[in-house]
Amino acid sequence: MDTGWHEEIRLNQKKHLGRLAYSMFRGDLPEGDSIAEKLHSLGIKSEDLDFVILTHLHSDHVSGLKHVQDAKRILTSEIEWKAAHRRMGYIKSMWQGVAIETFHFTDIPHGPNHQGYDLFGDGSLYLVHTPGHTDGMVAVLVKMQKGWLVLASDVGYSERSWEEIILPGITTDKQAACRSLKWLKEFSKRDDCIRILANHDPAITPGIIE
Ligand SMILES: [Zn+2]
Repeated sequence: MDTGWHEEIRLNQKKHLGRLAYSMFRGDLPEGDSIAEKLHSLGIKSEDLDFVILTHLHSDHVSGLKHVQDAKRILTSEIEWKAAHRRMGYIKSMWQGVAIETFHFTDIPHGPNHQGYDLFGDGSLYLVHTPGHTDGMVAVLVKMQKGWLVLASDVGYSERSWEEIILPGITTDKQAACRSLKWLKEFSKRDDCIRILANHDPAITPGIIE
């Protein structure tokens, strides 16, 4: 899920981000932390990946896409795909030449609008439409042995975000962002919610969740 920064960010930020984005923000990618380096250390080749899920197409989530472009399937939502080609705030060169498939949302039992995509068709992994930060963003619900693991992407930046309903700094729809956070807050109270992980939470350390 998501790819982080491309290694080019260490060598030539201006080229990788483009002049406009470079004037607004910078990326930071410590040695060993790129998706290519992580996969290598685990002995996994990118062509062995069945799926790469792009929760949304912001640069800090898709920059490293070309490190894993040989994956079997690369998916993002149709709404996000369209928004990324219509709105500012995206760097299209990051996915140019990469075969990305899009999926449509349908009715699912979870999420602020009960919209999403049942990836395997068996209710074991839902890509839940959680708009607000971007139009087509998804959070990922994974059925584990003891309950649901939620990969919240950028619905909130840390646990405090949904506990106190603090919107992400970037939104395309504040009301929708608020509804997505409230859904996460409700979901966090369920007995079968084992953990919610926010993409940008510095408190999260690498580990295995069963
Ligand atoms: Zn984002």
